[in-house]
Amino acid sequence: MTTHTTRMLIIGSGPAGLSAAIYGARAGMQPIVVQGLQPGGQLTITTDVENYPGFRDVIQGPWLMQEMEAQAVHVGTRMMWDTITEVDIAGGTPFRAKGDSGDEYVGDVLVIATGAQAKWLGAPGEERLSGKGVSACATCDGFFYRGKKVAVIGGGNTAVEEALYLTNHSDDVTLIHRRDELRAEKILQDRLFAHPKISVIWNKRVEEFLGDPLDGGLTGLKLVDSLTGAESEFDCEGAFVAIGHAPATELFKGKLEMDANGYLIVEPGTPKTNVPGVFACGDVSDHIYRQAVTAAGTGCMAALDAERFLATLEFAKHEAEAAE
Ligand code: NDP
Repeated sequence: MTTHTTRMLIIGSGPAGLSAAIYGARAGMQPIVVQGLQPGGQLTITTDVENYPGFRDVIQGPWLMQEMEAQAVHVGTRMMWDTITEVDIAGGTPFRAKGDSGDEYVGDVLVIATGAQAKWLGAPGEERLSGKGVSACATCDGFFYRGKKVAVIGGGNTAVEEALYLTNHSDDVTLIHRRDELRAEKILQDRLFAHPKISVIWNKRVEEFLGDPLDGGLTGLKLVDSLTGAESEFDCEGAFVAIGHAPATELFKGKLEMDANGYLIVEPGTPKTNVPGVFACGDVSDHIYRQAVTAAGTGCMAALDAERFLATLEFAKHEAEAAE
């Protein structure tokens, strides 16, 4: 077991964590970023990014994250291929965390940028058929459904983007939504409704995923009409669940304040959690905006506040020493 010490320990390597690292490194805090199970975060499972400022042409999510990581390393960040399994923040600074590798990480400040992950419906067959026709990421798995009939479940931006993306692989894409209107942005809705390869089924909930994982995988979905309760079956070989995300905050339960949905609570307009020296940035504390650029912005804020926290701490220490 090795103990890695740093002034700034960052958990998570999406836009929030890496932006915090870039600012933290440039401020001399020699940050350590523990990357987690999905290095680079959610952008590594998207393709086209058209709304990250600074790029006139369409860029790729994984490429953007590689660039951010390279920049963070270039200015002095240490990247760790490890996943934090335990944190100890009750005693205040320095904060301790344990990695899956057995290594320990100690930071004078802790920046939590663990992000969020896809939600599942919890319907029968969903887990059993996961990877055998059921997926939560069209951009990761869409390729496997080339020429097949696929469904996307949900009505937000993610669902619509996934349906549009899947038309690269399939000529028969159906969006299934539990209500009769989408919450996705109008521009995306316009693209969806105009697309010749996409149909929409309104007012239907997915009650069950049908098929045998050992014999061909998913064959269809059992649907229930949200208004009448009538049951029906929809044949398809691929189903993409796109119903939103849940924050990755399991590690912090009972240790930091969080809301009813598990998002970390921060002081409004700041990345400060209820424990001094612990900061949260990106999707882990943002259920409203959830954009790469807002995550990067709050990552920057976390680093600036971390720097102020450490400066105050060091000033208090010098004062105490001078008084002795
Ligand atoms: P959202 O929370 O916006 O949408 C989730 C969708 O799933 C809703 O339509 C919801 O239905 C439906 N849903 C939720 N639970 C269930 C369930 N149990 N059964 C059936 N349907 C369900 O999540 P998104 O992931 O789409 O988007 C999250 C955020 O990220 C948003 O702020 C979005 O704007 C943003 N985003 C932005 C993108 C971009 O700018 N390019 C791309 C992707 C996301 P209902 O409407 O009935 O509640």
